[in-house]
Amino acid sequence: MISPDGSNAGPAILILGAPGAGKGTQAKRIAEVLQIPAISTGAIFRQNMKDRTELGQKAQSYMDAGEFVPDSVTNPMVKARLSAPDVAGGFLLDGYPRTIDQAFYLRDALAATGRELDLVLEIAVELDEVVQRLLKRAEIEGRADDTEPVIRRRLEVYKEQTEPMVTYYADQDKLVQVDGIGTVDEVWERIRQVLTEYGLLEK
Ligand code: AMP
Repeated sequence: MISPDGSNAGPAILILGAPGAGKGTQAKRIAEVLQIPAISTGAIFRQNMKDRTELGQKAQSYMDAGEFVPDSVTNPMVKARLSAPDVAGGFLLDGYPRTIDQAFYLRDALAATGRELDLVLEIAVELDEVVQRLLKRAEIEGRADDTEPVIRRRLEVYKEQTEPMVTYYADQDKLVQVDGIGTVDEVWERIRQVLTEYGLLEK
């Protein structure tokens, strides 16, 4: 992808979807085939909690309750990650931005280095469907934020805060919605087609 300063900066992609839409799994595949790093804020927080870092301690109570970690913690963390050398050839953001304010912050942080998002992929699923998926995942993975009240809260927060952001990207013609119902391979096939249409993958 050509950035405004004419350099070949690699694709800057955002993957969006309600909790349980399967975005983490698809993000891994996209990152693998495009050979770009996947940057998942949720995964960074979870790793920090596991390692008992200061950042992890700051994030813990919010994550346990299904609330967003404050921007004062999240934004600088993402900015630092985006300045790492491996991001120069492109990157895939997973789980950030999640609010309009974060989207503005990201726009400004990228603009400072002459970049912008090239593509926003939304994995679309009905919210009732994702509750079932998340409860199943809770049994398998035992994530602390996969209990039913917390799942419901995370979905509420998604509807309130993240859905309006989807409109922001749609208005810029950056949004492509992909049907998230089906097997991992079926959804992947839809994503692969989008990446191909965008010239990011060979046919
Ligand atoms: P995820 O793995 O993307 O579902 O994220 C799990 C949890 O991490 C969320 O419920 C939030 O508590 C926190 N989190 C992840 N990304 C963000 C973000 N962009 N802003 C605030 N909190 C976040």
